Amino acid sequence: MSTRIKRVNMAKPEYETSETVVFWDMDNCPLPNGYDPCLLAPRIDTELEDLGYDGPLMIVAAGNLYGIPNEFLRALSSTGVLIRHCIRGLYSMVIEYLDSRTSQSPMTLMLITTDSSLLDSVVCQIYKGVYVGYNLLLAHPPFYEIEDPHHRSLVYVGAEWLWTRYSLLKVSGFEEETRGLVDIGGFQKFSCESCHVDSFRNFADFIEHCETSELHQALREREWEREKAEREKAEREREWEREKAEKAEKAEREKAEREREWEKAEKAEREKAEKAREEKAEVEKAEREKADEVEKVEREKAEREKAEKEKAEKEKANNLEIGDEGGESSFEQMNLKEFEEDSNEERKKQMMDLRKNFMEQMNVAEEE
Ligand SMILES: [Zn+2]
Repeated sequence: MSTRIKRVNMAKPEYETSETVVFWDMDNCPLPNGYDPCLLAPRIDTELEDLGYDGPLMIVAAGNLYGIPNEFLRALSSTGVLIRHCIRGLYSMVIEYLDSRTSQSPMTLMLITTDSSLLDSVVCQIYKGVYVGYNLLLAHPPFYEIEDPHHRSLVYVGAEWLWTRYSLLKVSGFEEETRGLVDIGGFQKFSCESCHVDSFRNFADFIEHCETSELHQALREREWEREKAEREKAEREREWEREKAEKAEKAEREKAEREREWEKAEKAEREKAEKAREEKAEVEKAEREKADEVEKVEREKAEREKAEKEKAEKEKANNLEIGDEGGESSFEQMNLKEFEEDSNEERKKQMMDLRKNFMEQMNVAEEE
């Protein structure tokens, strides 16, 4: 937030003695807290004088006056500031004033407002030459920064201040005096723009009108209704927010609960699967052991059978050797011719079979 004084130029010669009209929008440019309303007019007066504006000066303070203490308005009025009650902003009042002005003599117009439509409108009319001879001065609070480039760059702006204690509202420390404010263009000291009434004899008359007239009563009641509706709306919104927060919290809780349930179910599932795996492993182990047992038994049986067979063969071979005792140990060495020439056919066949059998046995033994 900038607190610097913005563009400030000395008055051009044609504006040094011409009149200056200031419109202060009390609604959107309120005085800083605690700022003495009696200081406002002298402050603006001094600031303008320092820049060379020495002509007649009129300051109009306008806005919705509901809620503004009477003492504040009285103090303001006592310094020569004109008071205007208008509940829908300054736009129509300012435009009406400028439209009604027929003279094209030089004039300085100072606008203290953040009303963009008013600023745009004035700048456009000056740019288009509808309003002639105007020197524009501007002031606004620091939070109101007009986008750049803006319409106002189309026209010459004599000076621009921030509406702060450090800029236009700075307190000089010594007593500032006004040149004596004037009414320019038939402006009355007090006026009610809402009722189009400006024939008030004095401040008390004006305040009485604002506080008692039927229209103002109606407006005030409408204002109360509006405030009440806003309070109720705010209350409803708070209630709604609360319900929303509660719902969100409940949903969160339920979600967490569901997640816990899922985790529990998953864990049970995992344990079940683990148990099934263990059971299966046990069954497989038992089957493996059984198979090993069977294999072992079969192996032993085969070994036994083999051993028995070998034993039987050995005995058979031994028997053969015993039957051959006293002669040559092998049929090979027997004279084959003797067998073949044997006239006893019965014995010859027996011997030949025996020999054949022996040879086969020998062959089996060799293979092993
Ligand atoms: Zn009124």
